[in-house]
Order: sequence, then C-alpha cells, then structure tokens
Amino acid sequence: MKHIKLFLIIALCLTAVSAWSQLLDKGVSKELAEQRKATISDVTYDLTFDIPAEQKSKVTGKAVINFNLNAKVDVILDFQGKINGNVYIGKKKRAVSQKNEHIIVPMKFLKPGNITLTMEFTALDNALNRNSDYMYSLFVPDHARSAFPCFDQPDLRARFYTKLNVPQGWKTMVSDGSNPIPTYLYSFVAGNFQEKSANREGRPIRALYRETDPAKVFQLEKVFDDAVQSLKWMEGYTGIKCPFKEYGLVILPGYQFGGMEHPGAIQLNDRRIFLSNHPTSEEELSRTELIAHETAHLWFGDMVSLKWFEDVWAKEVYANFMASKITRRQYTKVDHALNFMRTYQTRAIAIDRTEGTHPIAMQLENLNHASLLYDNIIYDKAPVMMRMLEETMGAVNLQNGLRTYLRNNYFKNASWEDLINTLDKEAPSVGVRQFSEVWVKQKGMPQIHTSYKNGELIVSQKDPYGRGLCWRQKFDIFLIFNLGSTRTIHVDMQKPTMTFKLKGKPNFIIPNYNGNGYGLFTLDDEYTQQLPLRLITTRNDLNRYVLLNTIYDSYLMGKVNPSYFGELYRMLMKEKNQLIMSTAIDHMFKIAFDMTPSQRNTLELCMMDLLGENKSKEFRKTLIRKLSKNMISPDVIKQIENIWLNHNEAIFDAHDYMNMAYRLAIVKPDQWDKILAAERGMLKTEDLRNEFDFVSRACNPDKGKRDDLFKSLLKAQNRKQEPWALHALALLNSDVFEPDNIDYISASLKSLEDIQKTSNIFMPGNWMKTLLAHHKSVLAKQTIEKFLSSNPKYPDNLKNKILEAAWELRNQKPYEEKLTK
Ligand SMILES: [Zn+2]
Repeated sequence: MKHIKLFLIIALCLTAVSAWSQLLDKGVSKELAEQRKATISDVTYDLTFDIPAEQKSKVTGKAVINFNLNAKVDVILDFQGKINGNVYIGKKKRAVSQKNEHIIVPMKFLKPGNITLTMEFTALDNALNRNSDYMYSLFVPDHARSAFPCFDQPDLRARFYTKLNVPQGWKTMVSDGSNPIPTYLYSFVAGNFQEKSANREGRPIRALYRETDPAKVFQLEKVFDDAVQSLKWMEGYTGIKCPFKEYGLVILPGYQFGGMEHPGAIQLNDRRIFLSNHPTSEEELSRTELIAHETAHLWFGDMVSLKWFEDVWAKEVYANFMASKITRRQYTKVDHALNFMRTYQTRAIAIDRTEGTHPIAMQLENLNHASLLYDNIIYDKAPVMMRMLEETMGAVNLQNGLRTYLRNNYFKNASWEDLINTLDKEAPSVGVRQFSEVWVKQKGMPQIHTSYKNGELIVSQKDPYGRGLCWRQKFDIFLIFNLGSTRTIHVDMQKPTMTFKLKGKPNFIIPNYNGNGYGLFTLDDEYTQQLPLRLITTRNDLNRYVLLNTIYDSYLMGKVNPSYFGELYRMLMKEKNQLIMSTAIDHMFKIAFDMTPSQRNTLELCMMDLLGENKSKEFRKTLIRKLSKNMISPDVIKQIENIWLNHNEAIFDAHDYMNMAYRLAIVKPDQWDKILAAERGMLKTEDLRNEFDFVSRACNPDKGKRDDLFKSLLKAQNRKQEPWALHALALLNSDVFEPDNIDYISASLKSLEDIQKTSNIFMPGNWMKTLLAHHKSVLAKQTIEKFLSSNPKYPDNLKNKILEAAWELRNQKPYEEKLTK
C-alpha cells in the first residue's frame, strides 16, 4: 500500500509539474488558454501607441488592462516585446517577471475581483507591417502579443479603446471597439493614405487606400456597392442586424492575404480590389466574393468567434459558403454551379488527392502552430462539405439552424460541435453527426468508379485509405447510347455500391455530369478514352466544365494521352465562357510542361495560333498572361516582346507588363538589364517601383547574385512583403534556371520550420508550392525523397505542406511513358 501511495504522490507531482511547464511554454498553449478562460473575464484594453515617422524607430505604447479575476492564481499575460519601467497593479508599483514570451504577475499581489494593470512597453515590429510612410497591424492568429501585453486567445474577448499618436498628416483606422472581440481581430492602421467615404442606403462606409490612378480609384464605387449588398444579404439570411457600427476598408499594396475581417477596419489586397481596365469575369467575381467573404465574417467569426484556433476552418467555411450565396444574387448571368466548382471543388480536389491531405477538423496544442491549419482544405473543401450538408438536411433547416446558432452565441465563442448540436435538433432524422464524422473528421475523398456490366450500370465508392467510409452524396451520371439517345441517372450514394438497370450498353458514360459530387471520378479504360471526344459537343457550360475536369483528373492518373491537347485546342477555338477558358488553358500548359522542350515549343506556338481563332478580349488576356509567365518558344517570345514593347493594350495592367518583362529578362539573359530598366521607366508609382526593384533581382543571369537573393529570402526580415518574396522565389525557381536552382529545394526544406515560425499563416504552404511549381527533374524529386526519408519524425502538419506541393513531382510519370500509352 505504501508503495502505491508513494507512487501516486510522485505521479501527481509530475502531472502538476508538467502542467505548469506547459502554461509557461513559449506561445499560447491550450492549457494556458483553458486556465485563463476559467479564471479571467470582462477584459478591456485601453491602449496608446506612439508611431514614429522614422521606420527604424520603434513603436512604443501604454497599456491599461482591466479584467475580473475569480481565483487565487498567478496571472500570465502574453507579450514578446519589452516592458519599459514599472508595472502597476491598481496604483501600486509591483515587480513582475518576464519569461518565455509571458509576463507573470504573482498571485501574492492579486486579490480576486477587479484588477487593473498598467505598463509602458516597446512593441516588436513583426506584425506591424511598417513601411516608409504607412503601417498596418495584422495579428491573426496570435501576433497581438508581439505588439502589446494581452491575453492572446480567441475566447477571452475584450473591449478595446485605442489612442494613436502618429506623424502629422497620417490617416488612421482602428477596428470597431463597440463590442467585445478577440485579440486576433483587433487592428490599427496609420499612414499616408487616400481616403474616400460614402453613404449607401443610410450606411456609412469609409476606405483608406494608396492607389492614385483615377480609373482604378473609381472602382471603389463598385466596391462600396458590393459591401452594402453583402451586408443586406447577411442581415436577411441571419435575421440579425449588422453587429458592428462602423464599416471601414483598408486597401493595401503587397498585402499578404486576400483580406482580413477586422470589424470596422477590414483589410484587403489592392491587387484583388483595383482591377485593370478590362477585368475578366473571373477577376470581377473574385472581388465580389472577397468582399462578401470578409463581410460575412462580421457575423461568422467576429460576432460569434471560434473558441480555439483548431476551429478556424469553421469560420472560413461559413464565410465562403455565404460568399458564394451572396455572389449568386449579384451576378445573374454567371453559371454559379460552375463557379462554385471552379472556386472550391477543383481546388479542394487538388490537395485532397495528395498524400499531404488531412481532415477538415484538426487539433492544435499551441497557438504558435496555428498557421499550419490554413490551406485549401479549410477554405475550399469545407464549403463543398457545407453544400453537401445543406443538400442533405435542406436549405431551410440549415438556415434555421444557423440562425439559432448565431442568436444563442451572440458575441460569444462557439465551436463546430455547438453548431452540429443545433443542427441535429433542427433536423433529427438526417444524421448530421454521422455526416460530420465522415466529411469533417476524416481525411481524403472517395474514388467513385462507374462501369457497365451485363445490362447494369455499377457505381461504386472506394475509401482510398481502406477505412470503409462512405461519403454520402448525390450526383448525376449522363449516358449516351447509339443513335444519340441519352439518359440521366440520379445517384443518391447512400452505400458503397449502387446498380442501375440499363436497356443496352452505353457508348459514352459521363460521371458527375452536374458537378454535384465530390471525389475522383473514374471509368473503365474503354470509356475513359471516349471522354475527350465529347468535350466540343457538350453545349452546357457546367457540363463542359465538369467534363474538362474529369478528363484532367484522368490525365493526371496517366489514363489520358497528351494528344488530348488537340481536343482542348478545338474547344478553345470557340470557347466563350471565361471560367472554362482559363481552366482549359491551365490544362494545356500542364500538358506542355510535361513534354520535351521541342514538343513544348510546338505546343506554345499552337496556343499562340489560337489567338487568331478565338478573338475575344478575355481569351487574349487570359492566354497572353499565362504565356508571358511560361514561354520558352523563340517565336512566342518574339511576339510577346512586341506586345511588351508597344505597352499600349488596355486589357493589360502594370503587373501584366511587369510579368512580361521578368520573363523576357530571364529568357534573354544578354539583354536582361536593358529590359528591366525600360520596364522600370514605365512604372507610375513609388509602390510599384518598390515592388519591381524587389522582385526583378530574381531575373539576374548571374547565378551568384540569384543565390544571394535566395539566401536573403530565408531570413524573415527580408520577406516582409510576402507576396513579393514569393514572386521572387517563383522566378528564382523558373524552369529556365534548372539545374542551377536545385539547391534551393534542400535549403528550403531545412528552413521550413523557421519559415513557419517567422511568417504569416499561408507562407509555409505557399513557399513550398511556389518553390516546386516548375521543378521536374529527377534530381529535384530525389532531394525531396531524401529529405522525407532522413527526417522520419518531421512534424506532420509541416510534412503535409511538403507532400502536397511535391505531389506532381513525386507522382509524375515521364512523358515518354505517357506518350506511348
Ligand atoms: Zn476568412
């Protein structure tokens, strides 16, 4: 007995010790967040920031933090910067300690009840995005703690009062403090901005931006319209008035995301907002979707927030799901089923087919790893799942459930499980929980095979990971028989195999004809070979788009011959739908990229010829954009060079011409400096020249110079403008520079953990994808394999980024093999 008791005591002590040490781990551990949630409430931050004009001088500030404490515990704040001078508890000066990115206020100074801490501090620059004459804070997911002392976890909502001391003439915008919000949604912006205010249907909107081209600035009118339409739609759908008083937009050059939903101060990427004079429908749609997405977050994310960042996908799924509904109302001429497929389904499949995939729902032990949760699974697969859920339970039931969920959690935090509980009550017979188990909690997608045998059509679903899962879903299969008679089969996939009696053998089987299904759709070889022939005769846009993607999936599996390029060519001669055009052009480039240089040469010339067939502006713009980033054929280079020299086509904007110049400089190394100097002379704004000077260094024909640039990008301070850094990385890894750039792969792999720690959320995945996009050598593949096999304990989430990005490289069959098939 004694022994056991002693053992128990030791065990208890050990747990206590380990729990304690996790509380004070760097970052914000789940344990710390839970302990604080249980003991701290009613937080307010009264913050003053002194922002100097000189970029090198630090931002300093004062924080008065008020909260309620309900237990006798040390209070642990998060802060990575420096405290200046004394810390006051109430009016008393007290000694506190700073350790592992935390400030520890000992319990001996504290009594449960209302507490006020006051301190002055110096902020780190990390999340303040400081430029020569403007700055913007971006704290998602856990960077507020780099700028001011706080409880940096989403479920300790707080009211914020902000005072900014800024250089004369600077404009400012601060997130709306009228309601309690999580720290990651707090933001302030200051600098030399243009400003425009509007009032739409009684709603004031304010925008800060740096764009000076009047034609582009005029587009703000459309942006304001989109914003108001989104607000009204959300109010109608949710039955809850916009939960924030202010609606402000900050439109930023070189912005690292598409947008970020700080209430009252939504940040947006200027490339997504200010479009060229003749934007493609894809660009216009994507702008409306972006504004709708960020506006939908005011309800889903800002008003009702996640409890912990592992549920981050849930706020993104609502936002994207709502955005697609909102856009549907505004673009009546667009085929929205097609757009939904293109926006979400295709991108989701692109990651779900790789070994780097994972369930929609993941676990997170410490907020400093939250960045690894962000990818196309949460942004693109989750909305597909949501649409399946809506179809399974009915649109009205889902809407009612979401309304109840929002009402019950008004300015509170809630999890996906909370929604599932609500939905389950709304429609108990549907099996919402079971649906969520498969679609949300498990990784991967089904392989759905359709075949014909003995007078029956057989549709079977296979779980690629052998778990025996069945993804419940509905989709159509289209059959064409002799003499052109057709039949549509509606499949409601409730079990792994379903059969349908047919009167005869079909000539063509086109699976997932309406695009409603999700998975890899395959056919027996005989039927797969037939698919490309149907492309040009399929009249309906959605059907044609689905077919295009089904063939492409088969091409990637090595089941369709590259001569399929010819069918794409024939289709594009007449294609009018820009969304389909752009996808088909991408597929053409993929095929060309898989060929030998001389074959690729020929295929590029064919594509250029298409400009004489399909004379629409949208086609010209989409194709030339793509060619000017990829061309290797001397004739094509000459033609693009002429377009660039003329610099007078209204369909292209400054970035299009910059891209032409980058590629021309790379493929014409003897003239690189002249080309770049000429392009620089055409740039109209300081922001554009800064970007150009940063990116164009990657075009240097001197390998030593490029190596230096690459090494510099591995250091966080040299990639503050992440889109610029990624662009430079893409150029450094151009196919033309192979094999000079092979070393960048192993160096990147070695640095990936550091890149993850020192960058914004999308960077690790984007870095890997950009790095590997144009490598196809055996050596590149071996480098990846060697790294994976020699690092068996590499963190799973990060390894997934590698597996996803390297999928094509690792699974690609040599073109000789493909050609002979
Ligand atoms: Zn979002």
